[in-house]
Amino acid sequence: MVEPVELPSRIGILPFRNKVLLPGAIIRIQCTSPSSVKLVEQELWQREEKGLIGILPVRDAAESITVGSDVTQGGDSGDRSSKIDGKGQHEPNWHTRGVSARAIHLSRGVEKPSGRVTYIVVLEGLSRFSVQELNTKGAYATAKISPIDMTKAEMEQVEQDTDYIALSRQFKLTAMELISVLEQKQKTGGRTKVLLETVPVHKLADIFVASFEISFEEQLSMLDSVDLKVRISKATELVDRHLQSIRVAEKITQKVEGQLSKTQKEYLLRQQMRAIKEELGDNDDEDDDAAALERKMQDAGMPPSIWKHAQRELRRLKKMQPQQPGYNSSRAYLELLADLPWQTTSEEAELDLKAAKERLDSDHYGLVKIKQRIIEYLAVRKLKPDARSPVLCFVGPPGVGKTSLASSIAAALGRKFIRISLGGVKDEADIRGHRRTYIGSMPGRLIDGLKKVGVCNPVMLLDEIDKTGSDSRGDPASALLEVLDPEQNKTFNDHYLNVPFDLSKVIFVATANRAQPIPPPLLDRMEVIELPGYTSEEKLRIAMRHLIPRVLNQHGLNSDFLQIPEGMVKLVIERYTREAGVRNLERNLAALARAAAVIVAEQEHNLPLNKNINPISSPLLESRIAEGGAEVEMEVIPMGVNNNHEISDVFRIMSPLIVDEEMLEKVLGPPKYDNKEAAERVVTPGVTVGLVWTAFGGEVQFVEATATAGKGDLHLTGQLGDVIKESAQIALTWVRARATELNLATAQESNLLEGRDVHIHFPAGAVPKDGPSAGVTLVTSLVSLFSRRRVRADTAMTGEMTLRGLVLPVGGIKDKVLAAHRYGIKRVILPERNLKDLAEVPAAVLGSLEILLAKRMEDVLEHAFEGGCPVKKHSKL
Ligand code: ADP
Repeated sequence: MVEPVELPSRIGILPFRNKVLLPGAIIRIQCTSPSSVKLVEQELWQREEKGLIGILPVRDAAESITVGSDVTQGGDSGDRSSKIDGKGQHEPNWHTRGVSARAIHLSRGVEKPSGRVTYIVVLEGLSRFSVQELNTKGAYATAKISPIDMTKAEMEQVEQDTDYIALSRQFKLTAMELISVLEQKQKTGGRTKVLLETVPVHKLADIFVASFEISFEEQLSMLDSVDLKVRISKATELVDRHLQSIRVAEKITQKVEGQLSKTQKEYLLRQQMRAIKEELGDNDDEDDDAAALERKMQDAGMPPSIWKHAQRELRRLKKMQPQQPGYNSSRAYLELLADLPWQTTSEEAELDLKAAKERLDSDHYGLVKIKQRIIEYLAVRKLKPDARSPVLCFVGPPGVGKTSLASSIAAALGRKFIRISLGGVKDEADIRGHRRTYIGSMPGRLIDGLKKVGVCNPVMLLDEIDKTGSDSRGDPASALLEVLDPEQNKTFNDHYLNVPFDLSKVIFVATANRAQPIPPPLLDRMEVIELPGYTSEEKLRIAMRHLIPRVLNQHGLNSDFLQIPEGMVKLVIERYTREAGVRNLERNLAALARAAAVIVAEQEHNLPLNKNINPISSPLLESRIAEGGAEVEMEVIPMGVNNNHEISDVFRIMSPLIVDEEMLEKVLGPPKYDNKEAAERVVTPGVTVGLVWTAFGGEVQFVEATATAGKGDLHLTGQLGDVIKESAQIALTWVRARATELNLATAQESNLLEGRDVHIHFPAGAVPKDGPSAGVTLVTSLVSLFSRRRVRADTAMTGEMTLRGLVLPVGGIKDKVLAAHRYGIKRVILPERNLKDLAEVPAAVLGSLEILLAKRMEDVLEHAFEGGCPVKKHSKL
């Protein structure tokens, strides 16, 4: 225990804000402010003999201004005696009484890279003192003090006092009770009781109280209890209060345990029974197992006919030995029957259309028309819940929000959401399951999904419905047809399940990248809602409002740690992504967040005690005494002259990381795209920029034509479909037929292919290409090749061409125009009859592009070449 110490008359002061250190308490603090570092350095670190410092509570000036016992500074700091200084800032209120303390552990650290010195000090409170005069002028505060603890003689006298004896006894009794309760709870040894016998009661009072979580006011009043009788009765009261609170907590726990649900109780009993049986060597686990399964099946709410079927199967199972073939599969089957949500539904709350709209708006930027359509859909459901509403099918490139819209619908309806991926499903059994006669047979994806989601009325997303194909293993589309047909899906028959399951409560929503590959009968059941891609501006808004907050959250960060300025998001959009949706954008932002998380984690590692060090309290007394002095951690924010400095220091360490270009390159690598690609590729005659439509939305597609010595053949490469091959033939025929008019050949040698082959290539790797819309692009490439004139690199085109040179309209105009905009193309040539489709293109995009309309092939050529088409003047074309 602490020996009485001689107090010096002047002592260095460490202020504790809204905290008190009581004698006998042990506390661990980190000193980072210049004043506290200086104090520790001079008074503790550099001293040969053990130094002492004074811990003085300081009340946050903002909290309270009038406390009777607070001091105003004396001596040479008289100018700071007012509570509010000249700048209108509150001055801290220093308490008049403090506690001397000595360091029982000291460690010194140097922060990198600033080189700032910090100390971690473990302090032990020794004795009370009162402040005569406080000086806050120096590098750290000092005070003239006088001891207020009783002398030995005074002590001896008090110990004779009958009141004191009675109070002490009361305190010890209460403390003993607390210790017994804690010992029961924590099963710690009896060392604490020994303490009760050996340490004087007035010291015990401080030690006990120091370990409770009590208010600053109560701590102060304990500190001010110089009179031993007052101190002990106060401590008794606090110990008693703590004891009561533990008892109340216990009562609550018991009550909760008492309310354990019936099934939980059964489970516990069953576990116990199993243990007893094991002890007796009487282990008939299998019976138990079957009984448990039967109970589960009873609770599953199966329709009566299915229940009968299930019972038959169960009887079969009961007769089997677990080692017998078929036991496991039969068991798995029954488990499925018991797990399926035959009747379980998620409670459908009264649909609040306004809330649903707000939810859609808060989850998704833009998409005004689509959100409106969804609200209409919900409104119809609200008015007539069993109406045969169409199945919504969101069609659009990846990452445009199809899945997230569907999940918002589920949220708006208060239903669970499950996504069934149909991409690459070729086997009907994937949807309908395998018959149980197959080894390793399983239910189909729908039944499996329902088992997982656990309710029979979820919103079920049939994802990538356009990617199902059919082959020898059946036709998944026809199974889906049954699923989506309200007449048939009441009794959906999964081959594995082999009993009908009612799917009519499920709300189906589908997604597809393109509507075209969806078999017409299936398409007929659905209402297609198209989601084209986003413009860069829209992407920026989506990133700022939705993606960044979500990504930060997913990585345990917030804007206090990482900020991604708008300018940088723009760069990510322009240089690192070139997609219709925002999926890669989200990935790139996530990569930045990951990198930032590492940096933040490292910083925290360097400064482990800098933030949010919570005081550990309450039953700590127990561990403190049991372990012979565990440390109490707390944060000290020193006050006084360097107050602001300290706060800014904390902020410097915690200031957010702001993404800049350097970080972009470091994390995401060198830029992947720039707007110069078209200019660089269209350097030789024969290369043209086309606009095509793929599963990823609109794309810019280069077409390259070259001529070699040969016998007049046409070679085509680049993963082409039949339609595009035919387009190439048509293009070549058209150009050859007009070779003279186009000034490509003289009248004498009008055969353009005399002695040469033409090779047309569609680069862009592995993307399969098909469709007629490359017609005008092919012709332009050929004309450029034969006329040896370069096509304008700032111009892209799309359009089908007839053999006679008429330009026909094509699909996907909005997506294609957006793609051109993404690539930094300035002019776009479109079929005249596509003019109406431009209404869908956002005005901002149209404003940045020159749209040129073409009726005939000559119009295209006129726009495609610098200075117009190389067609002969006065041609009769
Ligand atoms: P899809 O299903 O079309 O491939 P997702 O729904 O998975 O795309 O969307 C990819 C990501 O982009 C999701 O995190 C989604 O929330 C986000 N997202 C897409 N469009 C928007 C939008 N308009 N507003 C907010 N977030 C969006």
